[in-house]
Amino acid sequence: MEILKPLLKICNVTVQYDGIPALKKINLTICANQIISVVGPNGSGKTTLMKAVAGILRPIEGVIHYQHEMIQSLPIHEIVRRGLVYVPEGMNVFPFMSVMENLDVGAYVAREQKKERLSFVFEIFPALADNQRKTAGTLSGGQKRMLTIARGLMSGPKLLLLDDPFLGLAPKDVNRLCDTLKRIRRHGITLFLAGQHVRRILRVATKAFLIEEGKITLSGTGDQLLGHPHLRETLFGIVAESGIEIP
Ligand code: ATP
Repeated sequence: MEILKPLLKICNVTVQYDGIPALKKINLTICANQIISVVGPNGSGKTTLMKAVAGILRPIEGVIHYQHEMIQSLPIHEIVRRGLVYVPEGMNVFPFMSVMENLDVGAYVAREQKKERLSFVFEIFPALADNQRKTAGTLSGGQKRMLTIARGLMSGPKLLLLDDPFLGLAPKDVNRLCDTLKRIRRHGITLFLAGQHVRRILRVATKAFLIEEGKITLSGTGDQLLGHPHLRETLFGIVAESGIEIP
């Protein structure tokens, strides 16, 4: 049996916006070499959770342990240097820079490993190798998403946080990205995903959580959550008792 080692532990974390709590005493553990998915309704706190882990938002209470170190007060660049890298939602590339220059920006924390990271990124995303001199703004939506993830990989993550990675992608690109995420995991990188594409995000997960109004309300494997009546009712409008599905 696989022995799971905790990589990140979120303990009792509360985050507020202007005094209004968006995360309420969250507890969650992420083990190394897993794909962890967080799903939940709009405004339930998924992005806030990712930003708190990445050091972009500061909890008003609670502790975040990463590899046995408390990181909730560290500056963002120190968090990135420790291998915890956040890729926000959207396809935000530097549009007037080339693909290569965009990747170079991601390598800023460890220039000395740039060459090996670049060959890793090009192995994962061969389309970026083919288009490395192209201006990033001219890439397709799917390629821009690849570039945002690749830029994150250039920082050498141990834990890669991807906010809504499937948003805006064509179905064929969604399928491809699922395979790519599994390949990234096989390279020893732990993935933490959040997003609206509930079925996709849960199917690719080794462990998953449902968040509602800033609280974790369910946890289990992705398949367990997909089949859970509460999640089905909350996110798909499928009421178990009546068997009536609301499209
Ligand atoms: P979505 O799936 O729609 O992206 P989410 O689950 O990622 O939503 P968050 O964006 O984390 O949810 O928002 C959680 C709560 O915090 C919501 O009530 C939201 O309105 C509020 N919120 C988020 N960002 C801010 C902000 N900058 N200022 C004030 N309130 C905010």
